[in-house]
Amino acid sequence: MSDDTAIEARARALAPDFAHRAAHWDRERSYPWPNVEAMVDAGLIGMAIPRAYGGEGASCIDVVKAVEQIARSCTLSARILVESNMGALGAIMAYGTEEQKQFCAPIVLAGDKPAICITEPEAGSAATGMATTARRVGDRYLLNGTKHWITGGGVSKLYLVFARIFENGQDCGIGGFILHYDPEAGISPAGFEVVGRAHTMGLCGMPEAELRFTDVEISADRALRPPGGFGDLMRAYNTQRVGAGTIAMGVAAGALDHATRYLLDREQFGRPIAEFQGLQWMLADMDTGVHAARLLLHEAARSAPEGGFPDRNLAARAKLFASETAIKVVNDALQMFGARGYSDMEPLERMYRDVRMFTIGGGTAQVLRTQVAAARLGIDTPQTRDGYARKAARLATG
Ligand code: FAD
Repeated sequence: MSDDTAIEARARALAPDFAHRAAHWDRERSYPWPNVEAMVDAGLIGMAIPRAYGGEGASCIDVVKAVEQIARSCTLSARILVESNMGALGAIMAYGTEEQKQFCAPIVLAGDKPAICITEPEAGSAATGMATTARRVGDRYLLNGTKHWITGGGVSKLYLVFARIFENGQDCGIGGFILHYDPEAGISPAGFEVVGRAHTMGLCGMPEAELRFTDVEISADRALRPPGGFGDLMRAYNTQRVGAGTIAMGVAAGALDHATRYLLDREQFGRPIAEFQGLQWMLADMDTGVHAARLLLHEAARSAPEGGFPDRNLAARAKLFASETAIKVVNDALQMFGARGYSDMEPLERMYRDVRMFTIGGGTAQVLRTQVAAARLGIDTPQTRDGYARKAARLATG
């Protein structure tokens, strides 16, 4: 465990500069490389990597506190911070071989944000219905399929690609495959293509890419196959959910601070608008929502044992609440600014576009509700039931 207050302070120190440039990345739809460098220099990128591999061994709650500080000023940079510490990286550090960890850690510590590649055109919420296959041929696998909505596709150097594994024609379940792509260094696996980028309403500097795999050869020692298969890989995703919820909460906390200052400053009818009870009650609800979201996220983050992942249900509940609350809080903050809020004179229209994503990516609000309800009822969900045996059988026969 690291000194989380120090980590939080390091993140907070970057915020003014990040806030200053946030509109630029949005307008130009460009990746914030200078912010990545600043986060590398501050030791924030890859801080969750264990010390043995060059990181700081920061806990989930350490990371969460840092992410909130960055998200208050730049949503894009907060996403990079999450994905350079959670998600694919967490899975690799928890389940990877020694060689895999030694290989991936320095790439991340130098500024990479590994991409996690699960979603496909025909398999969104129903991820186990994925059609991407990894067929074993000697000491390699051949990857075939299409992934879309891959955050950082084309920019990231490491990709954890989820695929259904077939060995001797047998379905062996879903595993992960570590793909290295660094065209500037001449590393561009044959058959791997970044074929398109979605035009998104928010988070505009981050490519959300479609990736195509055509007989991409991956050495068997780059396969990530934890004992619990797909279930274990998705356990790593619980951290990512806490991270995503924290970004949403951090954006909302930033909007709340911004609105609080404006209420005291802006005058109408000869007095600060802060004196109007209609706005005070909105402010009170915003304050309460952000605080409650933070508590749920911290509870989920603290449930992660050292080197492990947060509780599945706590993570789902926290992301659900934080993402929905954040949309409401940012929307209300924008309302408080009147016409200014609707324009790019203020950061709120960007924050609103950014924060809208968090009830969709990384588990939709509906799917998370299904999960929370199922935990309470003690029943299976479509996600935990294997309802895809027939599809898997079809894939096996090619
Ligand atoms: P669908 O699954 O088709 O859902 C459509 C609608 O049906 C939704 O409202 C959904 O809530 C609802 N629905 C579906 N199933 C149920 C159910 N059982 N009960 C009730 N309602 C249901 N994926 C990656 O693998 N890697 C990434 O890096 C990544 N980044 C993303 C970044 C962004 C900006 C976005 C928007 C998405 C990203 N995704 C990524 C994909 C994301 O995880 C999926 O969008 C999400 O899982 C939902 O899948 P879908 O969009 O296909 O919607």
